[in-house]
Amino acid sequence: MSNGKEPDYEVIVIGAGVAGIYQIKRLVDLGIEATVLEAGSDLGGTWYWNRYPGCRFDSESYTYGYSFSKELLEQWHWKERYSSQPENLRYLNFVTDLFDLRRHMQFDCKVEAAHFDESRDIWRLRASDGRVMTCRFLVGALGLLSAATLPRYEGMGRFRGRSFHTYHWPQEGIDLKGKKVAIIGTGATAIQIIPEIAPEAAELTIFQRRPNWAAPLNNRTISEEEMGEIRARYDEIFATCARTPGGFEHEPDRRGFWEVSREERLALWDRLYAEPGFGIWLANFREIFTDEDANAELSEYIAERIRQRVKDPAVAEKLIPKDHGFGVQRVPLETHYYEAYNRDNVHLVDIGETPIERVTETGLRTSERDHEFDVIIYATGFDALSGAFDRIDIRGVGGEALREKWRDSVSTYLGMMVHGFPNFFMPSGPQSGSASTNYPRGIEIGVNWCTALLEYLWEHGYPRAEPTREAEERWTAHVKKMYSTMLMRKAKSWFTGYNSNVEGHEQGKIRYLVYNGGTPKFVKTITAVAENGYEGLQLGLPPTEPDEALPEAGAA
Ligand code: NAP
Repeated sequence: MSNGKEPDYEVIVIGAGVAGIYQIKRLVDLGIEATVLEAGSDLGGTWYWNRYPGCRFDSESYTYGYSFSKELLEQWHWKERYSSQPENLRYLNFVTDLFDLRRHMQFDCKVEAAHFDESRDIWRLRASDGRVMTCRFLVGALGLLSAATLPRYEGMGRFRGRSFHTYHWPQEGIDLKGKKVAIIGTGATAIQIIPEIAPEAAELTIFQRRPNWAAPLNNRTISEEEMGEIRARYDEIFATCARTPGGFEHEPDRRGFWEVSREERLALWDRLYAEPGFGIWLANFREIFTDEDANAELSEYIAERIRQRVKDPAVAEKLIPKDHGFGVQRVPLETHYYEAYNRDNVHLVDIGETPIERVTETGLRTSERDHEFDVIIYATGFDALSGAFDRIDIRGVGGEALREKWRDSVSTYLGMMVHGFPNFFMPSGPQSGSASTNYPRGIEIGVNWCTALLEYLWEHGYPRAEPTREAEERWTAHVKKMYSTMLMRKAKSWFTGYNSNVEGHEQGKIRYLVYNGGTPKFVKTITAVAENGYEGLQLGLPPTEPDEALPEAGAA
């Protein structure tokens, strides 16, 4: 709402999730007039929306929390090694209240449009309730996985039972006891839900298009005493996260895959499979990400584990991915997922073989038969990374729409800024360091960099900052090049921008959404950019377009 002067705010942050909360903290500490606009009725982002049973971290809780405040680290007790959604939401509320940030947040404020006014170097935002606000600098803290996507089945509106996407799990909860439940999808979300609801539902039918590789989470509680030890170790923990490619405590095994014996490889895998967390993915040999044969050997090891855990060999085979190897898509971690299929009330339908043809009034029709349900759960994922930006009408210089610019593939500078969209920051944007790492570790890095740049602009009196076209092209080419050695470039996964439910994001063309260089390299690069006076950015004035430059003397 306009307060009579323009801009209304020096900075507007869109999104009160993990990134938005930290961003507003930094701005408030600097005494900047800033606000957070949040579509939800409260803060928390991903941990506000995803309320499905089983929803939890698969980052170690104490590496997921913010690192910026000793006071916070001293006060908070993580109760589980991989904390659950209700606790995570409590944590984000605790942080917000500890630093009195809630008064800088506006809820139920869904930003529909953000247009850059070139004549004044300000952003003009419109919310869905008609409110208009202006700011000098705009921060899109929109989340990586916040644009939920549904299948495009015929008849979806006709189902007489309840149906919803997992991201929009009913806030009041839903009693599945005695119900016939369908779940569509077998990604990380479904893999968390299925073992939780299998004992409750009368019948649970899982519609799987492609299986995912999953490995045990091995969660456990954290006692007071252990939490004391973790607190004493926080400096060391965060130093390790800063040093590892994924921003975790898990460090890759730097021995050569083929230089150790098969027995040694098996010993490592036996150990990692029994250990908590992402070790089996991230503390493994580095070749599993780049060498087909190394990856195949590990994949066969995991397949054998699945066969040992699922009683019906035919079901086990259906749960073993055949189209991609272990770890080339984001690995879901599970708790008794495979054992859920040993229950009599759990059924697996392979919709690769018998596709869903339509939703009926009473359930789902596959090419084989009709299935009746009381509840249909769509665990069908997200238009990752760029989707949340595409859903806002963001227009930069000359009225260019960001969603048009990114139609075929994303292009950014450092994953945090975009040519043609001045004064617009994405602390955890596509192609930034946070997308492929332990998210909050990447977020703190991104927010700190964006905030330091803002401080630089304020100190120097620059009203405007924008990356040059050339700098953006260089970064995007760099991100793209890093895919070339990775097996994941072939995967149908959000890492490659695949989403069968979004036009143009189907399989066939890779969208280079993820920076694969790891945390240390990312930090080194963005630090050097800052130290060199923000090279690649045009500060103060619009960038000179190369095609507008005068030809060199003597050129034809
Ligand atoms: P996802 O991994 O993209 O999985 C979506 C599932 O739905 C896939 O099995 C997909 O099959 C299926 N699907 C999509 N559209 C379909 C259609 N039209 N018909 C039939 N099946 C369809 O999504 P997600 O499980 O929500 O996970 C997304 C990401 O969120 C994860 O990769 C992870 O990064 C994050 N996440 C994290 C946690 C955690 O921290 N523990 C938990 C949950 C999610 P195809 O594979 O054939 O496309």
